[in-house]
Amino acid sequence: MCECCGGESAVRMVLLGAPGAGKGTQASAMQQRWGLVHVASGDLLRDNVKNDTELGRKAKPYMEAGELVPDDLILDMMEERLARPDAQSGFVLDGFPRTLAQAEALDARLETMGQRLDAVIYLRVSEEEILRRLSGRLICPQCHAVYHADTMPPKRPGVCDRCGTALVQRSDEDPEVVRKRLQVYEEQTAPLVEYYRSRGLLHEVDGAIGVDRVLAKIASILEAAAKRVGAREPQ
Ligand code: AMP
Repeated sequence: MCECCGGESAVRMVLLGAPGAGKGTQASAMQQRWGLVHVASGDLLRDNVKNDTELGRKAKPYMEAGELVPDDLILDMMEERLARPDAQSGFVLDGFPRTLAQAEALDARLETMGQRLDAVIYLRVSEEEILRRLSGRLICPQCHAVYHADTMPPKRPGVCDRCGTALVQRSDEDPEVVRKRLQVYEEQTAPLVEYYRSRGLLHEVDGAIGVDRVLAKIASILEAAAKRVGAREPQ
């Protein structure tokens, strides 16, 4: 593997699943454990909204309504993010792609750079479980860590374990907006499961078996992918 750019052997993955399936939690664990850069389109957008950038101002109304931000805005943002040096030695995408147009644009972009996706992990979770998870979710607006009031509480109530920032509830997690986000997921993102299955990239993982067991399953998928591309294996 090329030390400076990651070269041909970097592992590139997508985490697919409904809102609340555990993509953010798993991607952040993958970053901590294997050093894969976690690129979350929702976090990038929330940072833009927080910093009141032009992109943030354009994206905010869609996000607050539980709708998808238009593809052209997302593709520009992701193009810029994936071009940064840290993404050259492998990444795990969380929340992107979310439409067929985004998936095709990602394939085309990787192809022009002589790269390809190595695996897509689909975290499968029932709608009932999703609703339960989203209702108690808390996030850190600073480092993007995710908690749950009942199942994964922070050590000190309301405070991020990692960076000490006050935790907040996402503004798009009131029940009405959550319902809309799930509907949008079914209509626009769920078809990506078949898109990636037909390309032989899809690995289904039951997302309801607990954070550690999900991560163990991801570890073996990642290990096989890393072997295939000659990247370093999980420690
Ligand atoms: P997330 O944190 O991934 O649940 O994303 C929060 C919100 O950001 C979504 O409900 C969308 O409004 C927007 N968003 C995030 N990623 C995308 C994407 N790939 N395409 C379109 N909109 C997105």
